[in-house]
Amino acid sequence: MRCVSIEHKLGIHASPTCVMAYGDNGGATGYLVGRENEGLKYMFVMMNAARFAVGLEGVAIAERAYQRALQYARERLQGRDLADGSGPVPIIRHPDIRRMLMLMKSQTEAMRALAYVVAAAHDAAARHPDAAERQRNQAFVDLMIPVVKGWSTEVGNEIASLGVQIHGGMGFIEETGAAQHLRDARITTIYEGTTGIQANDLIGRKIAREGGATLKAVVAAMQQVAQELAAQPGEEFAALHAGFARGVEALAGAATHVATRFSEDILAVHVGAVPFLRLMGIVSGGWQLARAALVAQRKLAAGEGDAGFCKAKISTARFYADHLLAQAPGLAATVIKGGAGALAIAEDAL
Ligand SMILES: Cc1cc2nc3c(=O)[nH]c(=O)nc-3n(C[C@H](O)[C@H](O)[C@H](O)COP(=O)(O)OP(=O)(O)OC[C@H]3O[C@@H](n4cnc5c(N)ncnc54)[C@H](O)[C@@H]3O)c2cc1C
Repeated sequence: MRCVSIEHKLGIHASPTCVMAYGDNGGATGYLVGRENEGLKYMFVMMNAARFAVGLEGVAIAERAYQRALQYARERLQGRDLADGSGPVPIIRHPDIRRMLMLMKSQTEAMRALAYVVAAAHDAAARHPDAAERQRNQAFVDLMIPVVKGWSTEVGNEIASLGVQIHGGMGFIEETGAAQHLRDARITTIYEGTTGIQANDLIGRKIAREGGATLKAVVAAMQQVAQELAAQPGEEFAALHAGFARGVEALAGAATHVATRFSEDILAVHVGAVPFLRLMGIVSGGWQLARAALVAQRKLAAGEGDAGFCKAKISTARFYADHLLAQAPGLAATVIKGGAGALAIAEDAL
């Protein structure tokens, strides 16, 4: 029986189908865990948990990087206020710092909300009394795990990097801690499967293999939210609706391309795997922020809850639509057309 090493530090080697304890002198006993030839299936129970946890690591680092950058932006005095010429002012007053802070805040909220939704579906997949509901939730979890892992860790890196940028020169040196967040974030896109591997899993096992069926159901749920957005009054909801509806359309178009061209055009489709994962992350995150904005709107209309918090939820979702969902059509174009250019040059001419 062949065992793959998982955890050397504990002196235990485990594989999907066997656990092996060994002594100092090379003696070893293998134990069968579960049924033979079911190892890959068992391994994915462990891998899904590990990948989800690393996705959350991306969210956690992003949140801490944001908190640190926000505090610094309130304290650091530099430059003049563009509107009235007063100064020096705290750098939070500069529009570009505001933009970077909003990129950090909105994407962290989007990633966290998506991770929570997937965690709740994971519980329902295990415990829901209705077998069809358990299956539906499991399909959703399986589809979304590579997105939570791949997207949240890639964006976690970008957010940690924005944190360094907001600190200026102080961010590059170690005293502030901003650079440490970037270093900590860097491993998250590598271990438990690199982003490339998550993206291949997403387009292959999770979409092409089932003809995009689970994703189609997710897109239908997104379209339902887009309709609810369209029914809300005000400029912020108009912008949010326009950005989100375009994003969902872009995702649906790119997914159809992946599902229909996967076998015939396998190399070109795989060139688009990571851009597709990013597209799916951006639109799925926008879906959650849109849902949050709708709840906030209902609370404001009913005079319930913290009005400042609810208004910030709506403004954050609108920012996300203008700055992140706006990228969705471009990413879809890359997924659909980007293969030929990437593969055109001969390997030895690169
Ligand atoms: C700090 C640290 C801690 C770790 N801890 C553990 C641990 O506790 N347990 C454990 O088992 N492992 C652990 N690892 C290993 C880790 O999981 C691997 O490093 C990771 O999965 C990447 O594999 P690799 O290093 O072999 O890179 P490679 O597989 O060589 O990847 C190199 C590049 O090629 C790309 N690539 C490879 N194959 C494909 C493909 N088919 N399609 C597209 N792109 C591809 C990758 O995306 C990457 O960009 C750890 C690694 C580090 C750095």
